[in-house]
Amino acid sequence: MYINNHIAGMPAGYLFSEIAKRVKAFEARHPGEKVIRMGIGDVTRPLSPFVAEAFAQAAREMATPDGFHGYGPEGGYPFLIEAIIKGDYASRGISLSHDEVFVSDGAKTDTAAIQELFSPDAVIAVTDPVYPVYVDANAMAGRLGSHQNGRWERLITLPCTHENGFVPEMPKERVDALYLCYPNNPTGAVLTHEELRRIVDWAGDKGTLIIYDAAYRAFIADDSLPHSIYEIPGANEVAVECCSFSKTAGFTGVRCAWMVVPKGVKGLLPAGESVSLNALWRRRLASKSNGVSYPVQKAAEATYLPQGQREIAENIAAYRHNAGILLEALNGLGLDVQGGAHAPYLWLKAPGGMTGWELFDYLLGRARLVGTPGEGFGPSGAGCFRLTAFGSREDTIIGAQRIQDALKAL
Ligand code: PLP
Repeated sequence: MYINNHIAGMPAGYLFSEIAKRVKAFEARHPGEKVIRMGIGDVTRPLSPFVAEAFAQAAREMATPDGFHGYGPEGGYPFLIEAIIKGDYASRGISLSHDEVFVSDGAKTDTAAIQELFSPDAVIAVTDPVYPVYVDANAMAGRLGSHQNGRWERLITLPCTHENGFVPEMPKERVDALYLCYPNNPTGAVLTHEELRRIVDWAGDKGTLIIYDAAYRAFIADDSLPHSIYEIPGANEVAVECCSFSKTAGFTGVRCAWMVVPKGVKGLLPAGESVSLNALWRRRLASKSNGVSYPVQKAAEATYLPQGQREIAENIAAYRHNAGILLEALNGLGLDVQGGAHAPYLWLKAPGGMTGWELFDYLLGRARLVGTPGEGFGPSGAGCFRLTAFGSREDTIIGAQRIQDALKAL
């Protein structure tokens, strides 16, 4: 059996394993010292009790003859699709039909799988730094060529830096698919309506598909900023959108998300004839998925009910408050910081010309605090550092103080 050489040839998943190795070595040298973790983007607050009760009640229902559910519809139960459309789209003036929303077990799953609809030689563009899943999925499918000196041969990267205000400039070359993520992981940047409109118009002109990852939309504090790409006229002809309950409702361990594939979004067959991506995605799903479990979908539905909304809002407010604590500490040090206002991530330029890895080692040693070196998210992440606001309030306060003490000494 010959294996997929594109997977065998992937660069090692170096970032988080290297971080874990360095933290473990530090802890072995300093037993009993508390290390504050602001590296990995996982939530820490428990599920909303109301949502957990809906989850449990659905599981109990499954143990009754009348309430048992076998295989569900592969694209999701109508009750959840209805709640998503009403709660996240109709509420912002966006009209979607039921067959344009597909429930899944994660935005990671969807953002990784959508490329199966692209031709093998499709040209891919991503913002840089980037959530690595978009790149890895295309690399594994053999679309990106070889990986040399930290760059993929056939990948177009659009730098987003402190210098350009984190707004990507659109490429001159032809691009088949552009991945965007706002609020952004790792930089915490958001786009205004005007900035997003320019990108949507560009995509319409060029025939480029946008894959819009809005997994962090719940953290947008300013209601006038776009929460969905479909707030931009014409986006329903050029964009698919991925969203998730992971960060909105603490579902990282429960697993539920959705993707919107509007019927107006088209792709081209080799002869130039256009086909609906919606029909292709449905076809793919029918072959490859049996959907998401009934109790998980009932739990997700409960996040839209009034008590669920109140309880998940409390969790988001707590993370936002943490981000505010970190932002104040970093601004107080006069650092170049992005994010934190509309995202659970803060992205800073390492002071004194340090690399991200040098700042990592410095903060681990001096502040007993773990963040993520920007180098792990792409070439434009060099010399930057990501902190997350997903810790407890207590850890965030201690961490902010330790960062101030350690960086003041520089
Ligand atoms: N998209 C982005 C930008 C993320 O940062 C993450 C997780 O950290 C995901 C998607 C994954 O979401 P899910 O838990 O729904 O798979």
